[in-house]
Amino acid sequence: MITISIKKGLDLNISGRPGSDGVQPGDPDHVSILPLRIPYIVPKLVVKEGDRVKQGSPLFYDKRDPRVSFLAPGGGRVQAIRFGERRSIQEIRIALSPTEEKTPFPLFSEYDIDRMPRTGLVTAMLEGGVWPFLRSLPFRDMVGPDETPPAIWVVLENTDPFHPSPESYLSGREALFHFGLKVLSRLTPSVRVVKGSLSSLSSPSIAERITHVFSGPYPAHDPGVMVYHTRTNPTENRSGYVTGQDLLLVAGLLKNGFFPVERFVTVAGPFSKKPETIKTRIGAPVSHIVSVKEAQATVRLIQGGLFNGYPVEMDGCMGLFETALTVMGRGNQKEFFGFARPGFNKPSYSRTFLSALRQRPFDMDCGMHGEERACVNCGICATVCPVDILPQFMMKAIHGGEVEEALKHGLLDCVACGLCAYVCPSKIALSALFKQAKTDYYKESM
Ligand code: SF4
Ligand code: SF4
Repeated sequence: MITISIKKGLDLNISGRPGSDGVQPGDPDHVSILPLRIPYIVPKLVVKEGDRVKQGSPLFYDKRDPRVSFLAPGGGRVQAIRFGERRSIQEIRIALSPTEEKTPFPLFSEYDIDRMPRTGLVTAMLEGGVWPFLRSLPFRDMVGPDETPPAIWVVLENTDPFHPSPESYLSGREALFHFGLKVLSRLTPSVRVVKGSLSSLSSPSIAERITHVFSGPYPAHDPGVMVYHTRTNPTENRSGYVTGQDLLLVAGLLKNGFFPVERFVTVAGPFSKKPETIKTRIGAPVSHIVSVKEAQATVRLIQGGLFNGYPVEMDGCMGLFETALTVMGRGNQKEFFGFARPGFNKPSYSRTFLSALRQRPFDMDCGMHGEERACVNCGICATVCPVDILPQFMMKAIHGGEVEEALKHGLLDCVACGLCAYVCPSKIALSALFKQAKTDYYKESM
């Protein structure tokens, strides 16, 4: 087992940490899928409003590779298809039927997985809709069906405080997890299972499969950070990764013969009425799984990571890959004579406020608490970057249109953790700039 300690990053001391209880709120009346939130795909619909679908029926495919299908996360009627700008497909909503039907898929045993041709396994995963859960670095697109990634990282946990713990979603599913590892071993020469520490793992059989222990502050468990700190040759930059929960979905399809939809989601944050881990399903409506402490107008819901997720409204739904919903204050209220206050409640990386003395978690909010200014070359952003980028110089290269220079500064290594933007005293949205530059580079070079 390889143990690596990541030094750079930042531990977030935020209130509203969830428990790992796995409460089940019952079935929602509808589920959705959000094609616009699946990176880089070009969706082509195969259903229309009013169609009846089973759990596991195709809803759309990726025009770039029509073998990649996205399946219905529930059985019922296609209630609505919402379009955005230039007819981009934002949401496909399915009203669930009380007698939900499931599409059957072929079943495989471990013996079959060991002996079937690799192409047969890939086809089964493509047709069963679980291939998109295998994602690829550095762009976080999906692994190409004809590619053999040099390694696949199985990421069991996230250092972001508000994500389901492996104990919540692995408990009682150890056999399925091992089956998933068997599947991965047919797709890559190196399967790497990674965790932050072994102490919290209650299952000895899973602890035995851990190949890497990565400890350190957020975002030590990001697969991009792992590759950056372990790669021995450039081909490893195209390593694949899959989260522990998504590996269970892959295994569930092949072992049980139907498209699995179970999801553990954390609902947490300072304004969550009851921070907890919920057992729900892919595409569950937000209103079904969250209740907020304050009036909805004063809070903001974010899905995905705290610093790299995206906002969602109360009438929205969970994205295909998302397993965390954070309830934050909007932070847009004006504070009377705020500049003259000691700031006990204001988290501050630069220890500007008396909050530096505080041990208790903070009620963080989404406010910028200031306006964007020019870079003052303080270098604080570089002190937190887990992949040793100098964000201030990369920003200048991107603004100057010097793509090669940005690549030399490590643009492709950036994991979009958002820390550089969080600590920047000039409030520069560095992370969003880098994410966009990386996306543009991907689109130009593919
Ligand atoms: S440059 Fe990228 S990886 Fe580094 S801190 Fe900023 S967002 Fe994170
Ligand atoms: S933290 Fe902000 S102001 Fe300081 S060097 Fe980085 S970008 Fe410039």
